[in-house]
Amino acid sequence: MRLSQFFLPILKENPREAEIVSHRLMLRAGMIRQQGQGSFSWLPLGKLVLDKVCRIIREEQNRAGALEILMPTIQSADLWRESGRYDDYGKEMLRIKDRQDRDMLYGPTNEEVVTEIVRAYVKSYKDLPLNLYHIQWKFRDEVRPRFGVMRSREFLMKDAYSFDLDFEGAKAAYNRMFVSYLRTFTRMGLQAIPMRADTGPIGGDLSHEFIILADTGESQVYCDREYLSLQVPGENTDFANDGEIADIVKTWTTPYAATDEMHDEAAWDKLGEADRVSARGIEVGHIFHFGDKYSKPMGAKVTGPDGKDHFVSGGSYGIGPSRLVAAIIEASHDDNGIIWPEAVAPFDIGLINMKVGDADCDRVCGELYSAFTGAGKDVLYDDTDQRPGGKFATADLIGLPWQVIVGPRGVAAGEIEIKNRRTGERETLPVAEAKKRFGAIA
Ligand code: ATP
Ligand code: MG
Repeated sequence: MRLSQFFLPILKENPREAEIVSHRLMLRAGMIRQQGQGSFSWLPLGKLVLDKVCRIIREEQNRAGALEILMPTIQSADLWRESGRYDDYGKEMLRIKDRQDRDMLYGPTNEEVVTEIVRAYVKSYKDLPLNLYHIQWKFRDEVRPRFGVMRSREFLMKDAYSFDLDFEGAKAAYNRMFVSYLRTFTRMGLQAIPMRADTGPIGGDLSHEFIILADTGESQVYCDREYLSLQVPGENTDFANDGEIADIVKTWTTPYAATDEMHDEAAWDKLGEADRVSARGIEVGHIFHFGDKYSKPMGAKVTGPDGKDHFVSGGSYGIGPSRLVAAIIEASHDDNGIIWPEAVAPFDIGLINMKVGDADCDRVCGELYSAFTGAGKDVLYDDTDQRPGGKFATADLIGLPWQVIVGPRGVAAGEIEIKNRRTGERETLPVAEAKKRFGAIA
């Protein structure tokens, strides 16, 4: 992509409304545009990152056996009356009437809709286990939308719903999502810690929030330092092996970790002073077992191996991709801007032409652009007539992992410079060497 043909509305000044660094940087880097209270458009740079985040989530959901669907945003109030939540949900739910004066709502979550699907088609235990997910916009009329896409009213959510014959099956499904979440966040360059969360009237211990430690987080959290060095399960994890998956969950739930609401002073006091991490955290995912909370009132049942009817046992599993984009920035930035982890970077390389119009610089940039893109790299080629200082500032601000800098003096000697955004390290290389460095065959 040529920058001259891209849409990157960079802000020079710090936007006054932004209280936290991710919000400030997302606005300055032209990733999002606020359209109303807690409502944002995703501009090209932001959309590229959001898509990469969603792709990782999809890959890890699919690996764990979940199946992607897509449910509507506008839902019928009648379904929610069946579960009893229409009246319970409160002011966070946006209620709408259609032209026939029917009560509708903009979905804040999808348990009712997905349970309706399962009740219609799934009749036997042989059709289970089943886990259906989608990535869809949600609306919650938050009391205090703030921090940009971190807490907005309209936001993207990946929500998965598992259905099993009994508690044992539901627990195995819960464990698969737990492990899938560990892998998902690690792949985005984040260290997420599963913390015990409140199960409310459902009870039990099957609810965890996945929390990123960050000073700007809205929750106060407590955990054992051991979490910071635990090994995250690899790509070859066998999701079909319930025992192996349960062992991983055990390892990741044994050290102490809890959010404020679940904090247990006695357990905390037993930890040595040096092992205690008390910090602020951002919730990026939440998994929850709820048993027959929806299947019972809505009548979603299957015939079991015993020939009897059983209400299916369910769980729901949320991740906020839009909040994650901000959380990644909170975890990875410096004074000059964003530092994208490679897996979610909008482009892999920023190719900077220091003297557009200079025949040699233009030629070498053209060559490098084809070589890198040919090697499968996403390249943002700064072919604008801005001064070099401005180009460097832009490249640092938008945080691409690598900058490849082409200037007249270097080119005369057959050399270019590469800069690693994270370490700041610079290296001068012959042009052919630079091509090889990024996988191109010279
Ligand atoms: P919170 O406690 O932060 O209000 P929640 O517990 O209401 O979140 P869940 O219902 O568990 O959220 O939603 C699943 C995920 O969706 C959350 O872990 C978070 O990543 C994301 N999410 C929830 N609310 C918002 C929001 N207002 N803006 C952006 N993302 C959100
Ligand atoms: Mg939650």
